[in-house]
Amino acid sequence: MKCRSQKRLAGRIRAERRVLLERLAAVERRGGVLDPRDAGGGTIRAAEAMDEVQESVVRELVLASREALISRVRALEQAEERIRSGTYGICDLCGGPIPPQRLEALPEAALCLPCAEAVENPWPSWRRRAVAPGGPRRPAA
Ligand SMILES: [Zn+2]
Repeated sequence: MKCRSQKRLAGRIRAERRVLLERLAAVERRGGVLDPRDAGGGTIRAAEAMDEVQESVVRELVLASREALISRVRALEQAEERIRSGTYGICDLCGGPIPPQRLEALPEAALCLPCAEAVENPWPSWRRRAVAPGGPRRPAA
């Protein structure tokens, strides 16, 4: 991939990581102590005025967004690592190039689209197409 666009993407990755880390800090401030080791210790300040059900729902939501933020930050860090090692833009699974349009849309992408789809959906697309519409044909009983 072109050097200039990679530099630009590297800047975007850095900026996004910074924003995500700030949001993560905000989530932790809002939810009080969210470290799993402390989750049972009754230290979640925001939940003080709520009943038990609401508390667990809020905690789950905060934890879910925290997990999502952390995994995104991790993906961005891995992308920076790939830029440093010169493997950025190369699919982790098949070793093929990741199209620039995909990297523009998702700078931390580690997989090309077919590989990402294969990981997300273990059913190959040709099989999905084969059953739809109307489902597989069954012999009459
Ligand atoms: Zn691939």
